Amino acid sequence: MNLELSEEQDAVRRLAKDFVAREVTPYAAAWDRAESVDRAVVRKLGDLGFLGLTIDEEYGGSGGDHLAYCLVTEELGRGDSSVRGIVSVSLGLVAKSVAAWGTEEQKRRWLPGLTSGALLGCFGLTEPGTGSDAAHLTTMAVLGTDGTYTVNGTKMFITNGTWADVVLLFARTNDAPGHKGVSAFLVPADAPGLTRRAVHGKLGLRGQATAELVLEDVRVPADALLGPEGKGFSVAMAALAKGRMSVAAGCVGIAQAALDAAVAYATEREQFGRSIAHHQLVQELLSDIAVDVDAARLLTWRVADLVDRGLPFATESSKAKLFASEAAVRAANHALQVFGGYGYIDEYPVGKLLRDARVMTLYEGTSQIQKLVIGRALTGVSAF
Ligand SMILES: Cc1cc2nc3c(=O)[nH]c(=O)nc-3n(C[C@H](O)[C@H](O)[C@H](O)COP(=O)(O)OP(=O)(O)OC[C@H]3O[C@@H](n4cnc5c(N)ncnc54)[C@H](O)[C@@H]3O)c2cc1C
Repeated sequence: MNLELSEEQDAVRRLAKDFVAREVTPYAAAWDRAESVDRAVVRKLGDLGFLGLTIDEEYGGSGGDHLAYCLVTEELGRGDSSVRGIVSVSLGLVAKSVAAWGTEEQKRRWLPGLTSGALLGCFGLTEPGTGSDAAHLTTMAVLGTDGTYTVNGTKMFITNGTWADVVLLFARTNDAPGHKGVSAFLVPADAPGLTRRAVHGKLGLRGQATAELVLEDVRVPADALLGPEGKGFSVAMAALAKGRMSVAAGCVGIAQAALDAAVAYATEREQFGRSIAHHQLVQELLSDIAVDVDAARLLTWRVADLVDRGLPFATESSKAKLFASEAAVRAANHALQVFGGYGYIDEYPVGKLLRDARVMTLYEGTSQIQKLVIGRALTGVSAF
């Protein structure tokens, strides 16, 4: 097994590192306080090709493999998870779904804008009453005699929601029970009847535009269906299987940032007449973080490798997401401990890392849901 990066992968990682150092890290704390990332960052991400990774150049994408995508995602997560999430959702969940399931017309309509950053996508699956149990979503899309659907429902916690130009929307199109009645649609965010309300007061990811979407008699043409009618849940699950790899990579970035900050602080801060790095129990905190970083990164790279080789990866993606998200929380919490009281104030970066990490065990399937996915793969039994 060769874990050495190719020249291309190394180059894209260095590009992302440099971008994050110049354009993200210096502003992350201010964006967090202002509850908004500077929107100009979207175009910059597009200009560097970070919103088009793995997408064919024919549609404006920048090519590259999934390991390159994970390397960029890790670097963005190291700088600011709010910025990382913009890419994970607009490219990872939306553009990749269009590339995988879209008609030629849909690809030409949406992908050049999504990959350049001229357009942003959001992923509308969760509803106020259905989170983990997404197959029982209640948003309805009723086909009229004129061939258009009329959509009614509410979507909750939608990342990029207030900024997005297109919503990958999941709605029920027939009476079939559970996931069988769900279809996917590409709905322009300015469609009449679609209103968006920003969700404020989040513990972390404060720079990110999270929204509730309310759809009241929104008219959607039949050619907005993404994939076959009744196959929307497959579209969603395929997107999330890869999406979990992207969340895992972002979590590696958080854990790496926590490690870097904790090591730097431990070698500078003095107590009992020497740097706190001399205390064995501080070294224990640092080494625990370091092992978590390596383990999470290797699990994530394994998923990318499976995807790039066209092999099954969904269970491994759940394992990587489960481990990396819990590891990011542990790492940020350990780092905060190393900082002592200074970790508790926002002049230092570790408090934000902990707040940002905390959602990672919740979205794109909670840790409990990942365990059910892994358990089903082990036993063949769908527990719930
Ligand atoms: C900041 C943020 C951004 C988000 N972005 C998006 C987005 O872009 N698009 C989108 O569609 N959604 C998004 N979500 C929603 C997210 O995916 C859901 O919050 C998540 O799936 C959990 O759903 P829930 O919050 O309704 O919790 P619930 O499903 O109500 O779960 C509550 C608790 O019960 C547990 N639980 C539920 N069912 C089981 C079970 N069968 N076995 C064991 N335990 C169980 C859960 O693990 C959890 O601990 C986002 C959420 C947040 C907070």
